[in-house]
Amino acid sequence: MAKDENLNIAQEFIERQSAKKPGRPVFNEMLARIEKGEAQGIISWKLDRLARNPVDGGQISWFLQQGVIRHIKTHDRSFYPTDNVLMTSVEFGMANQFILDLKTNTKRGLDAKAKRGDYPGRAPLGYINDSRIKLVAVDKKKSKIVRRAFELYAEGNWRLEDAANFFAENGIKTKGGNPMKRDNVSYLLSNPFYIGLFRYTGELHEGNHEPIITKQLFDKVQAALKARSKPPSSPANHPQALCGAIRCGTCGMMITAEHKIKRQKNGNVHEYTYYRCTRKNKAVRCSEPPIREEMLDRQLSNLLKKYAMPADWAAELTKMSERDEKEAAQSTTALVQEARGEIQGISQKLQRLLDAYLDQDIEQETYRSERAGLLLRKKSLEEKIANPLYPSKNHSLKKFSD
Ligand SMILES: [Zn+2]
Repeated sequence: MAKDENLNIAQEFIERQSAKKPGRPVFNEMLARIEKGEAQGIISWKLDRLARNPVDGGQISWFLQQGVIRHIKTHDRSFYPTDNVLMTSVEFGMANQFILDLKTNTKRGLDAKAKRGDYPGRAPLGYINDSRIKLVAVDKKKSKIVRRAFELYAEGNWRLEDAANFFAENGIKTKGGNPMKRDNVSYLLSNPFYIGLFRYTGELHEGNHEPIITKQLFDKVQAALKARSKPPSSPANHPQALCGAIRCGTCGMMITAEHKIKRQKNGNVHEYTYYRCTRKNKAVRCSEPPIREEMLDRQLSNLLKKYAMPADWAAELTKMSERDEKEAAQSTTALVQEARGEIQGISQKLQRLLDAYLDQDIEQETYRSERAGLLLRKKSLEEKIANPLYPSKNHSLKKFSD
């Protein structure tokens, strides 16, 4: 607006305090500086953003009548000292009736809240909306259950139902008293809120609430969710340790492995792995029999014995590895600095991205996905800085029982 009208901006003021009560420090500073002659006008989204109480409204009207303020520009109109006094008064009176504009203004307010990092909605499981401080706080008891669920799911053996049952066992159920639905569990396990970010109107924001799990654990869970969403491959096809590494001594073909389960009449179950020649050589008719995994391991161990390390070498090498570890700790400082540098770069990119989006150089969809990617990367780096040597320590130390 300033550009269109050729207006110079002396200063931008952002007032976070509600305009409902008089005595806002930023508002007062702005008026004081206008009175000193540092500026002659105000640009504001609406008059009600400027003054929603009669005291502030009266002061603005008075300044306007006196010509201290020569122009107030809002998104849809202008106000001048020459205006009919009644007109501006009516306008301010209307502004006091904030309720008239509740719909659009609330949304604008929520957006600003989200940009400050305050989550403008109901807190997810593991958090509570603290009405006293108007912020989202960690629910001590439930946050531990949520963290534990993430840890267990990350191990990769859980189905979504197992997670739902775990929650149910810990007293977290639907309103109807049933275990949570798969979709809800899946939503919970992929909610970035738990690592300190949040989605609002399709955009990812940095929250100022406390994260309850690390980005690293979150990533593991995302990988587990992704792996789970694919149909399981048949266990018979699982590659065995030695497949592809050794060949048949008789015919030179690759060997393969088979997993066998033997059930005895008394109910005992035995599992065996056999290795055998693939017998793909058409020139040689191979008759090597299959061999049990344990037998093959023993044969290989015997072959490898002559390459085994003498005990005194091991002691020396242990010393060397300890020295390496110390050196690594020193080079950590460099890593941390590097991570800080990258974070700074990301902040600049975020700004540039926003500029490009506002200039309509890029689509909203691109903006959102790029922004999400950058914020997630930033989170990883912040974790790296907090814990550079042993990145997995964070969540493994905070056990469920603490
Ligand atoms: Zn063979």
